[in-house]
Amino acid sequence: MADFLKLAQPGITELSPYQPGKPTEELERELGITNIVKLASNENPLGPSPKIADELNRQIAELARYPDGSAYLLKNKLEAMTGVSPDRITVGNGSNDVLELVGRVFLGEGTESIISEHAFVVYPLVTKSVGAGLKVIPAKNHGQDLEATLAAITDQTRMIFIANPNNPTGTWITEDTLTAFLDQVRDDVIVILDEAYFEYAAGIEGYPNGLTLVDRYPNLVVTRTLSKAYGLAGLRIGYSVSNPDIADLMNRVRQPFNVNSMSLAAALIALDDQEHVDRSVAINAEGMKFLEDALSQLGLGAIPSAGNFLTVDFGRDAMPIYDALLHEGVIVRPIGVYGLPNHLRVTIGTPDENARFIDALQKVLNAA
Ligand code: PMP
Repeated sequence: MADFLKLAQPGITELSPYQPGKPTEELERELGITNIVKLASNENPLGPSPKIADELNRQIAELARYPDGSAYLLKNKLEAMTGVSPDRITVGNGSNDVLELVGRVFLGEGTESIISEHAFVVYPLVTKSVGAGLKVIPAKNHGQDLEATLAAITDQTRMIFIANPNNPTGTWITEDTLTAFLDQVRDDVIVILDEAYFEYAAGIEGYPNGLTLVDRYPNLVVTRTLSKAYGLAGLRIGYSVSNPDIADLMNRVRQPFNVNSMSLAAALIALDDQEHVDRSVAINAEGMKFLEDALSQLGLGAIPSAGNFLTVDFGRDAMPIYDALLHEGVIVRPIGVYGLPNHLRVTIGTPDENARFIDALQKVLNAA
């Protein structure tokens, strides 16, 4: 047998497979526990808009046909909502797909991207899978240090990833800090502004709306998703907004039918159901407050978060606590791979789920 490791493209061998949150069914099988609470993947605890079900049923009759590869209706809907013209929009099978498209267009051997310590794990994956170099800037107060990022730019730098807010830290940057940074970045360096959690953060004073900046900064690519506040993670749909020239290049590498017809149809309805998004954002804000207070009563601190999750500091190896929580039927996320072995990330759930988590945690900490 050939040594396939040697045959693999440079960069690929350095990667390890993405570790998703533990599926509920897996825990059920392993420990025989039922009534499991999964707070591990930053999903919307309310689920999707209840209005999509009928439309998805109707779509079943159309499943023999290919989807609209141009996502015409979706792009028009997004234009109506945000004022962004369709030629700036690129759709993806989740925003991860869009991140990969930008990476494939601009990165390769001899180029590098810059990310922050604790940055979302897909950025190194996108970078290394195409043989590009990766520069990691130490975090400042768990967040992205944009001044140090600027200073780290070299002739090889082709891309900078900024998650606002970042997963798993929940840290965010203000409009002033962002534009001061963008003003100084060379115009041939592509800046990805990942706004996966935009809807949750939008109410925070000074938090920027990246879509309003793409005109001013042609090298800026903003990514959004329907996986979070819109509750459609299972359907995989996201998009980017960029300069039309960049969108055109991304379109060249995009698989023609990368977003399926169910997702396109559901997205149209989900985007129209602002009430559902408002409810989701409200329940998140309440849950965040409840968890912060309850954690503080347990003597635990969390990194202030603009997302739908909180990253809790245990001040010691958090893996035993993670394991003990699993035995209580509560799945959270260990984030040692993000350089935070003493922290666990918990997604904000429904009031019941949040209470279950706190009860389980209390029990686990008392037993320790
Ligand atoms: N960016 C960030 C910061 C995320 O946390 C996630 C989801 N975990 C994504 C992008 C990708 O989400 P999706 O591919 O579901 O749109």
